[in-house]
Amino acid sequence: MSKKTIQGRITIDQEICKGCCLCKSVCPNEKISISKKPNQQGYYPAEFSDNENDGKVCIACGNCAIICPDIAIEVYRD
Ligand code: SF4
Ligand code: SF4
Repeated sequence: MSKKTIQGRITIDQEICKGCCLCKSVCPNEKISISKKPNQQGYYPAEFSDNENDGKVCIACGNCAIICPDIAIEVYRD
């Protein structure tokens, strides 16, 4: 039987994001990083890491979406 590890995921609207890092600061599993590439407004937006190699997964806690002042994040529970 295969083990299902992903419990949640998020999408971040990178053109709305202002790169404030609040979402990154509240993620318990360090699934959010800041892009090295600026968006069209010149902000470096947050991005979701779907890399599971470190054993950390999104738990769909919603912390990131709740704290985002620009409502740029949607959370999905798989
Ligand atoms: S929903 Fe929770 S675990 Fe998933 S990216 Fe947001 S803060 Fe992190
Ligand atoms: S909290 Fe919102 S605006 Fe701030 S970096 Fe995260 S997604 Fe971008």
